[in-house]
Amino acid sequence: QIELKGISKFFKQEEVIKDLDLTIKDGSFTVLVGPSGCGKSTTLRMIAGLDDQSSGDIFIDGKRVNGVPPGMRDVAMVFQNYALYPTMSVHNNIEFGLINRKIPKKERETLIADIAEIVGLSDYMKKKPEMLSGGQRQRVALARAMVKKPEVFILDEPLSNLDAKLRHQMRTELIQLHKRLGTTFVYVTHDQVEAMSMGDEIVIMNKGVIQQAASPIELYHNPANRFAAQFIGTPA
Ligand code: ATP
Ligand code: MG
Repeated sequence: QIELKGISKFFKQEEVIKDLDLTIKDGSFTVLVGPSGCGKSTTLRMIAGLDDQSSGDIFIDGKRVNGVPPGMRDVAMVFQNYALYPTMSVHNNIEFGLINRKIPKKERETLIADIAEIVGLSDYMKKKPEMLSGGQRQRVALARAMVKKPEVFILDEPLSNLDAKLRHQMRTELIQLHKRLGTTFVYVTHDQVEAMSMGDEIVIMNKGVIQQAASPIELYHNPANRFAAQFIGTPA
């Protein structure tokens, strides 16, 4: 599991994350939700090691990871803008997830082919990202994270660039993928419908503070405060 203990983050004088305590259970689909600027991406970046907290400790599987670089944490992050390499084929973009890992070529190719199959990209391996649709690009970004076989997937608004129909389809696919892999998903969205439909654990944030962390049902029946109630659209 992932534990954040007393995490604060300052950008210059501004405290954007305020003394945050959060436990993310192994195998959960945890959704961080809250308005723009509330600190969701910053929280993910600190878990992934892309940003250092100003104070507090982060533990992954009981190991304190303060200062441990991203490549040495057992997490893989999928970004909102996909961050694909435009000049590289789909195959090579996925393979890039394995950089610095000494895996024999044959084994590597099997792994890449298996994962391409899972995300439905087998027929697109030679194409460049610019020739793909938004949903296909999103699958490449997912596949690149998946080849690392991480314990934890961190996804920052991965569906926000997709149209409504595809977003719907990808939500279902992600839920199925989570079931199939059994790994922990930490998922960020500012869409409360998406949060409530996907997460088994929902963390509502506002202004760098957790308002409530609970299951969708618990949230629905027992919102902790007015903000939580309004956010999920139930009367306080
Ligand atoms: P969104 O839903 O718009 O993506 P968010 O919840 O992910 O928002 P963050 O990106 O975590 O929000 O930003 C939290 C706060 O920290 C914001 O006020 C933002 O302006 C500030 N911030 C984020 N990154 C930096 C940075 N590199 N330098 C200075 N301030 C930053
Ligand atoms: Mg963000």
